[in-house]
Amino acid sequence: MLEAILYEKLSGDRVRCDICQWRCVINPGKLGVCRMRCNYDGLLYLLNYAEVSSMAVDPIEKKPLFHFLPGSFVFSLGGWGCNFHCQHCQNWEISCVEQPGGSVRGSRKVSPKEAIELTRQYRCGGIAWTYNEPAIWFEYTLDSAKLAKEYGLYTVYVTNGYLTVEALDVLGPYLDAWRVDVKGFSDGFYQKLSKIYRWRGILEVAKRAKERWGMHVEVVTNIIPSMNDDEEQLAGIARWVRDELGELTPWHVTRFYPHHYLTHLPPTPIVSLETAYKIGKRAGLRFVYLGNVPGHDTENTICYSCGKLNISRFGYNTKVIGVDGSKCKFCDAELNIRQKVKKVKV
Ligand code: SF4
Repeated sequence: MLEAILYEKLSGDRVRCDICQWRCVINPGKLGVCRMRCNYDGLLYLLNYAEVSSMAVDPIEKKPLFHFLPGSFVFSLGGWGCNFHCQHCQNWEISCVEQPGGSVRGSRKVSPKEAIELTRQYRCGGIAWTYNEPAIWFEYTLDSAKLAKEYGLYTVYVTNGYLTVEALDVLGPYLDAWRVDVKGFSDGFYQKLSKIYRWRGILEVAKRAKERWGMHVEVVTNIIPSMNDDEEQLAGIARWVRDELGELTPWHVTRFYPHHYLTHLPPTPIVSLETAYKIGKRAGLRFVYLGNVPGHDTENTICYSCGKLNISRFGYNTKVIGVDGSKCKFCDAELNIRQKVKKVKV
């Protein structure tokens, strides 16, 4: 166990964790909402430092990140626990657990140094914390991100975006990409899907990740039939992305498949995804992508200015065809494609 960072000591040996926006006040002997931070005798400890549930070499497009080091491979690591309790969670076996390893699976210790060694050994361009919410093992991702920067590797958070501003500001110098879910655009939806009552802080933090820390940001919305497929929510997300992150920010609208507590719902009809695509385009977004629909022609990056093909994708087979730096090779239009890794003195 390691003592946590970013917490406050309160009266009566209670502590307040400031890693995510729950800001759990935890009594002695008790756990936070994520079940991975515990108050022992008035000090906050994390139970999951370097405890890995899953690791894989993935195409960066699988995160999905389409405008960030396209065609590269990323070493992906997942831990245990989550601060959300989403009804459709695909990874509930690692996120809904009471301890690292849960009751059925083993947990493997992978130190930051080992994680970086594996990233290099597998010839990946960088490392991503993904599969469960990275904030839950924040200290581990921070130590690993600092080390990754020493080796010129890129770093990615695949996140529900619920970090506090303080936590973002600690991590910000060492993080290249913020792949954030904006799951819906109403209080009722976030409450129903994820048991989150104040979700708008997610938007503020995503904007700060881009503006204050220069991160590359891409947004994902998993379209769930009858829950967030209404025009009002989708147009709300699209307009927010346009106004706060910019019209060149990629928005991925992905297909839902029945999981966990939502097995009674059907997979998202393709027509609903195409409607979301049109809503995004109508709002002025230049890059809207359908996800989990291999072979759909919206997987490609097409230049909005000259109409030529910049990047072709079929599933995870990516070919960079017409990109020069961040721009279209044919007409010089800005495409917001990040090809460089952040350099930081650690
Ligand atoms: S990281 Fe865990 S303990 Fe800390 S505020 Fe979030 S849910 Fe609570």
